[in-house]
Amino acid sequence: MSYAHRLIGGQPVSLSDYDPQGDGGLKKDAAAPIFERHIAELQELQELLYASNHLSVLIVLQGRDTSGKDGTIRHIFGPLNSQSCRVASFKVPSHKELAHDFLWRVHAETPARGQITVFNRSHYEDVLVVRVHGLAPEPVWRARYRHINEFERLLAESRTLVLKFYLHISRDEQMERLLKREQDPTKYWKLSAGDWKEREHWDAYTAAYEEALTQCSTDYAPWHVVPANKKWFRNLAIAETIVEALRPYKAQWMSELEETGARALQEIKEFRDKKA
Ligand code: ADP
Repeated sequence: MSYAHRLIGGQPVSLSDYDPQGDGGLKKDAAAPIFERHIAELQELQELLYASNHLSVLIVLQGRDTSGKDGTIRHIFGPLNSQSCRVASFKVPSHKELAHDFLWRVHAETPARGQITVFNRSHYEDVLVVRVHGLAPEPVWRARYRHINEFERLLAESRTLVLKFYLHISRDEQMERLLKREQDPTKYWKLSAGDWKEREHWDAYTAAYEEALTQCSTDYAPWHVVPANKKWFRNLAIAETIVEALRPYKAQWMSELEETGARALQEIKEFRDKKA
């Protein structure tokens, strides 16, 4: 059972079809041990991914302010080995970045073989915030759906597994989270009037997200809509999707490792025989 909604490419997406409050009929207590099992399996798969050095994994996290990108990173990727897992965050582009094509800074952050990279925001900002605020003329951002698909195809054909997640929260939930931050000094660093200003553009962002999800969900780089009002369910759904996408590679990675091990053992044996 998949808790994240995988989108079928090319079909028009309407976010109102997905309930941000969704929890798959689970209770938080029942979900906790399942989530722990997913994390344990993910740790094991990460080690095999790294050791077999065969594939790269790119996880794209997008969502409105307070949708839980940071929390997702903490809960799912925090427990992984930092030797082969890193986060790249995309902020307002610098002058230097703006002097290049929009994918220049993004391509530089894609995962190397054996590595997992998590994009906290991504190249999709260039068809989201840029579209909503008119930061580039329409023909410029409109061409980017094609550019993005071609870029992601290049990554996929270069053995990068690309999984994209839209963290789907409701407007009410966002308000509650923004207000809660104002009560919690440990969250003060996250306070920003900008979040309240962006909230005014809720419908324009909905339209921008729907078009990005419609145009850019492909077999080789699928989008998933993740109900994200309940943080524990969001974590469970994303962890499950990643584990299920990596699991089919396990047998292949194991057999490659066995071959590598057999070669190394043979070399060690030859070395010892020569010395004896
Ligand atoms: P976050 O909200 O992700 O925790 P920040 O508060 O620093 O982190 O926000 C990053 C900001 O950078 C967001 O408002 C986002 O829309 C903006 N941003 C990211 N990429 C681009 C881009 N290509 N063009 C314009 N703004 C961007």
